Amino acid sequence: MKNKAKVSGDSESRERVFEGQPVGAGISIGVVHRYDSRAVVQVRERRIPLTKIRVEQHRLLEAATKAAEYVSDLQSQAQRMNSAAGEELGYILDAHLQMLSGSRLVRGVQKRIASERINAEAAVVKEIGLMAEAFAAMEDQYLSERISDIREVGRRLVASLGHAAPAGIDDLPKNAVVVADELSPADTALLDPDRIVGLATTLGGVESHMAIVARSLGLPAVVAAPGLIDDVKNGEAIIVDGSTGKVFVAPSADTLRTYRLKRARFLRSQQSLKKLKSVAAVTKDGFRIHLLANIELPSELDAVAASGAEGIGLFRSEFMFLNRDTLPTEDQQFAELSQVVKKLAGRPLTIRILDVGADKLGDSVGLKPGPNPVLGLRGIRFALAHRKILMTQLAAILRAGAMGPVRILLPMVCIVDEIKEVRDIMARVARKLRRRGAKIADPLPPVGVMIEIPGAALAADALAAEADFFAIGTNDLTQYTLAIDRSDEQVAYLYNPLHPAVMRLIQFSAEAASAAGIPVSVCGEMAGDERLTPILLGFGITELSMAPANLPRVKKAVLDLNLAAITGRVRRLTSESDPARLKVLLDYIAQAK
Ligand code: PEP
Ligand code: MG
Repeated sequence: MKNKAKVSGDSESRERVFEGQPVGAGISIGVVHRYDSRAVVQVRERRIPLTKIRVEQHRLLEAATKAAEYVSDLQSQAQRMNSAAGEELGYILDAHLQMLSGSRLVRGVQKRIASERINAEAAVVKEIGLMAEAFAAMEDQYLSERISDIREVGRRLVASLGHAAPAGIDDLPKNAVVVADELSPADTALLDPDRIVGLATTLGGVESHMAIVARSLGLPAVVAAPGLIDDVKNGEAIIVDGSTGKVFVAPSADTLRTYRLKRARFLRSQQSLKKLKSVAAVTKDGFRIHLLANIELPSELDAVAASGAEGIGLFRSEFMFLNRDTLPTEDQQFAELSQVVKKLAGRPLTIRILDVGADKLGDSVGLKPGPNPVLGLRGIRFALAHRKILMTQLAAILRAGAMGPVRILLPMVCIVDEIKEVRDIMARVARKLRRRGAKIADPLPPVGVMIEIPGAALAADALAAEADFFAIGTNDLTQYTLAIDRSDEQVAYLYNPLHPAVMRLIQFSAEAASAAGIPVSVCGEMAGDERLTPILLGFGITELSMAPANLPRVKKAVLDLNLAAITGRVRRLTSESDPARLKVLLDYIAQAK
């Protein structure tokens, strides 16, 4: 049975169990705070006399100012988050501020008050409804998803007019577990870390925005748990298991006891993990493993330092191209990258070339989505079609490489020629820079490829002859191998990097790298899941790159592992076709020490 609430047979309790996708490790026990972002603000419409129109319009402007002050406070809160999520929230809240100050929304409401002679609250609700409809009809997925932001601004405006708005997430009880249909970036800005202990949503995938925020706040969370929001009431007791994806509403006394114990065990292990920061990651039988961090923003470097990572295995460079009207210049990119290189003080930095397309930014670089963006002009294909952008980025990387060790990583590589072309372009850029007298990396940085297309994995031997290293991107590799959109909750239950097809591709790529004598890492989300560490190491992977928060748990899994004892069984995973025997093998590997 897939993702359906089960009601406990125990007549004393009304325990309901939901199953979703786990995103943030740990267990939270708290009380339900229901937040339905689809809820429409209910207000009474009043007709106002002609003489009161100005007064009503003035009341609206005052409310907009009050709401804007509130949003500014949230912005300062977001800045303190000091993470990718915090920075993104800052941008979203900027958009909210704009909506609240002399924008089309405020002007539209003003006009409506005068033309329909109705109270400000009713005019806001009508205007928001119209805007939401217009946005929903837009073909651009990013814009159509901004509806929840518009509703949030409307809700805030109505609240500032002195009207009771539907329950938001800024008035949480203590120990709140927010149960929502989904949470937009704007919603997450309202989360008070002192009051919230967990999150559970009915929509979203394990790599949705909410999942990223949950991980960066260290909150246990579950996404894609169908039916949950419609079957909970405010104030009910709830347990969220961020490791298994289970959610218990109104848990029985037995369940509560079990989970209190599990939570206490988890918290104790978190404490002891902190002590591992400067311990080398070596398996029990002496294999040295390298643990690195994935980052999306320079501001995450403090978290990297705290995690004890040996360097950066994946620096997603898209951030430099976000939220701006023009492309970043070579000097601007150099300024950002050189800061990071300096801060890493000799530890390696793997910079991935701009990976636009599909779900990632497109507008800011003028990319027009093709008929099927996931299979279209993305990653290295885009870079080679827009040489100027690529050359500028390479120039900035080569200059940053003069200040410390950097590696260049190419996303979505499919054929050998793509690597050769980048090398030719890099050589040309280097000559130009030398003529200009600029200091650049010497020798030129290693050029590696992401293995994230099934065809690239199957042709890994050919690619290994041309690449200096491999980074296996299991997020896209799983998506493309199993034909499952990684952000679509409807098929999230099928998204499984342990599918034998995905494991065979990982194994084949790792073997091709080892035969060619080049390093190979895994940098997809799989690398940060300590339950999968034995499998990846069993395939011969010696480098794992992950969100910094996951690193201590993965290190513990490495330290506890006797690699020789499980390698044979891991290899058998890829030749086993019987699901029952596969499960036995996986269980054995998971329990082996
Ligand atoms: C991947 O696809 O596994 C990966 C690491 O890249 P991204 O998640 O940025 O697509
Ligand atoms: Mg990818």
